Amino acid sequence: MALVACPECGHQVSTLAKACPQCGAPPPGARTSEPVITGGLLGKLATVLGAWLVMPWVVRLLTFIAAMVMFSVMFAFSR
Ligand SMILES: [Zn+2]
Repeated sequence: MALVACPECGHQVSTLAKACPQCGAPPPGARTSEPVITGGLLGKLATVLGAWLVMPWVVRLLTFIAAMVMFSVMFAFSR
């Protein structure tokens, strides 16, 4: 546990505290959860697409067949 100066009022605030007890401002160590869904998803898609293009056609065909089998199994179990 460490104490840091509050950016708002300068009061010593614990890094574990969610907010400054003096003024209620979030401590400098507090991370604001920013959703990075778009960037992550695009990166993943690019990786998958790149891997797909690099793959030899035999592997592509096998992957396609495997995906088709997986989907048919999924549909068979969903009914
Ligand atoms: Zn404060």
